[in-house]
Amino acid sequence: MRLILLGPPGAGKGTQAVAIAEEFNIPHISTGDIFRYNIKEGTELGKKAKSFMDQGLLVPDEIVVAIVEDRLKQEDCKGGFLLDGFPRTVAQAEALDNAIAVMGTSLDKVINIQVDKEVLIERAVGRRICKACGATYHIKFNPSKGESCDKCGGELYQRDDDNQETVTRRIEVYLKETLPLIAYYQEKNKLAVIDGQQHIDKVFTEIVEVLRGDL
Ligand SMILES: [Zn+2]
Repeated sequence: MRLILLGPPGAGKGTQAVAIAEEFNIPHISTGDIFRYNIKEGTELGKKAKSFMDQGLLVPDEIVVAIVEDRLKQEDCKGGFLLDGFPRTVAQAEALDNAIAVMGTSLDKVINIQVDKEVLIERAVGRRICKACGATYHIKFNPSKGESCDKCGGELYQRDDDNQETVTRRIEVYLKETLPLIAYYQEKNKLAVIDGQQHIDKVFTEIVEVLRGDL
């Protein structure tokens, strides 16, 4: 099973990615993780990527794609993989299609977890985090019993970038950027849209149903 998982910040993508990878016994490949790995290990690609990041520049597509390609060639990806955080653009998607075609195979499905903008904003703005243990709460969906953390009694705070304005901008940028990507996969009949506003378990069940239907 060769999969891509898409979803805006706050859609619960990370949780679903871990569960899907386990269900289908495929590696969960988060681009953030493989970037950090390459930089930490000082690989050729990692050094190249770092030279751009050190200058505050975006890492060019060819390096990003090479890092992902390198990971996909590893033994544990033979039976499939779940890509999380990549591709972000149509150019990257095309490069990925080519890379996978060279491996003699193709993508099976692109799962897009869909959540309305207003809901994403409400989820992010209501988030509260414990200063001491990092536990997360939500003032409406998962409130703490009192003013402080249920687990350790620590002080709860709101992250600076979880304010209405920043969250709205973050989500709008994401939606605008991924629109062409979603259209690209739709055109190729690879896209499955999952309603991410249901209970987290229901979201997972639907994803599995869609993927099993493809087996
Ligand atoms: Zn705590």
